This record gives sequence, C-alpha cells and structure tokens, in this order.
Amino acid sequence: MSLVKEAADIAAKYIREYYSKHPVSVAGLASREFGFGDFESKIRIRHMSFQSDRDLNRYLVENAPAFVSCSSALYARPASRPMETKGLIGAELVFDLDATDMHLACQKEHGTSWVCSNCLSSVKTETIKLIEEFLVPDFGFQERDISINFSGNRGYHVRIHSDDVMHLDGKARKQISDYISGNGISMEALFPNLGQKGVRLTGPKPGDYGWGGRLAKGMIEAVNRGPAALEALGAPAADARIMERHKASVIMGITTGNWDMVRINKKAEFWANVIKGMTIKQSDSIDRNVTNDPSHLLRLPDTLHGDTMLVSKSIGSASELRKFDPMTDAIAFRGGTMLVKTVKVPKFSMDGKSFGPYDGGEVALPTYAALYLLMKRAAVPA
Ligand SMILES: [Zn+2]
Repeated sequence: MSLVKEAADIAAKYIREYYSKHPVSVAGLASREFGFGDFESKIRIRHMSFQSDRDLNRYLVENAPAFVSCSSALYARPASRPMETKGLIGAELVFDLDATDMHLACQKEHGTSWVCSNCLSSVKTETIKLIEEFLVPDFGFQERDISINFSGNRGYHVRIHSDDVMHLDGKARKQISDYISGNGISMEALFPNLGQKGVRLTGPKPGDYGWGGRLAKGMIEAVNRGPAALEALGAPAADARIMERHKASVIMGITTGNWDMVRINKKAEFWANVIKGMTIKQSDSIDRNVTNDPSHLLRLPDTLHGDTMLVSKSIGSASELRKFDPMTDAIAFRGGTMLVKTVKVPKFSMDGKSFGPYDGGEVALPTYAALYLLMKRAAVPA
C-alpha cells in the first residue's frame, strides 16, 4: 500500500532532522556503493558513491531518503555501472535474518507486514544462535570481526569483515550459507556404516565438531523431551514409545557414539528432521539470499528504516544483543505527541508502554509510536 502524501511529508521532516543531529559513517565509505529508497521502493536509486562522511551526511540531510543502503562489497569504482566495471576489491560476509523467513505461526494471524513481539524475539534468538553456535565455534570467527545491527524492522544483519572472508568467491559463500542452513549434509559421512546389517551403528558424539555433534546433542534433547517431541520430528508412534522406554540406554549410547539403540525405521529421514530444527532460517530464495551475492545492498547501520522510523542500530556483541529490545532501543524520536487516525492495529508495545489495539478512531500517541503506525500504513495523519 502506498503511503499517503501527508504521512510521507511528515516523515521527511523527521528524517531530515534526524540526520542533521546524528551523522552516520561506515568503514571503507569511499569504496562502497550506496543506494537510496523512498516510501514505495527500498532501493530507488543505486550506483552512488561518496568521497567522505561529510558528503554522505550532506546528501542525507538534503534528500531525507526513507531508506539508506550500502554494499557489503568494496570496489575500486563503486559508482561505475554495470556491476562488472566496478572493480571488486573484496566483500564482507553477510547474513540477513528476517522474521518472515522463519514462517512463524503468529505471522498467519497478523500478516507479514506487521511485526509482533514473538517475531522479534524469535529472530533475535536465531541471530544469537547463528553467532554462538555456528560462526564462532564452527568457522572460528572472532567476535571482534563480527558486526551486528538491527535491520530497522523485523530482523538483524550480521557482517564478518576479517581479511579471511573479504576474498571468498561466490561458491565459498554459498557453501557457508548451505552449511548453516543444513543443506547437503551427508548422512553417510556422519554414519559410515548406515544401512549395513549385523554391524553396530556408529555415529557422532555430542562433543564432535560441527553438524555431527549438533545432531547428537539434538537427538539427546529430543529423547529427553519425550515421545511427543520425537513424533513431532517424524518418529512413528511405536518407535517413539520404545525409545522412551529405553531412554537411559539410548542417551548413553549416543553419548559414546553407539547409535544402535536408536531404533527408528526411517533413520535418515528422522535425522534430517532433527537437523532441520537446528538450522538457521535464512531466505532460501536465490535473489534474496544476501550471503551468496555480495552485490546486494543492505541497510547502512544506524540509519532510519522507512517502514518503521526505527534506527538500524549497531549492536556491540551477541551478549549485548541478548539485552537489546528494538521497540525501545531503536527508537529515534522521543518527546512530543502526534494525533493520528488508526486503521485496525493489534496491540503493540514501544518504550515499555503498551498501545492499542485500535480499530479506527483518532488517538494521540508519542511521536515514535505515531510515526511507527504511519510508516506501517496502520494509521494516517489526523
Ligand atoms: Zn509475529
């Protein structure tokens, strides 16, 4: 739905005011491609570049763009087009996690343009999992080489900018993306004698590196949760009951790499489901998967998001992310109230205060909440 002109005009005034007080910056600014959007299209123009922070900030104040994006790639000639003529120097490794890719039950109720507290906490948990269970232990990236920022709406961006990743080619990026998404895991590699009769089925132990250890831990967790959890993962009811009865020896077995006690008929299928539950949910559509394609432009950290008027805040570390509440910590405009006419709006909370539900009618709201509803097309200026 397009934004009414009055709302766009109000937002532009706030955007201009914001950038005049909060100049932004990014490492390697002069080597990055920039793109800007309006309220209808997140990237309306691209192939732009700036020589200095000052040039960029002057542009932001003069043009008040609804969205500011820049490349994860560094180029010799960032403004040159077509893409092949830019002269790629290297690119950060980027992960774009968005609540809509998690296919949450709440989204069926509130639709994908709205974001609820469950959406926000789920995508935050997923982002912490990506860092603490994959990027640090499995790939050996250091926390200091990882930057995190809120996307400004319903997700997080994670960037790795160490020298080792800057020159990875597209194939290597796809392999990393596949690994965290659990694509193409070889069951034969984890269970070398799978399907052989009369031999003990050996498999991964919980302490093993990578997906082997993760599968062993996930399996123990599922057995501990009981038959319903095992059935939810695809175990036939009879098999789930048998495992429940022999719970202690199943767990003891897996702990020592002996998977004989796991008596499920369709083993490989069942394990694939256990693995699926432990993967990182990224966009699986090729043209939206940011990790694979460094030519994507991504929200410039600490800029405003035109669908929310929240700030795409930089977050110092995974432990800071745990405490981060986007609906409070990413608020840009405190102070003042604004009168808006709402359409149907579910209950929501910002800055620790609860608002709504609204169903038509005028309401005076704190500026940040009024702007949020205007930008979400859930209200119009009164
Ligand atoms: Zn939700």
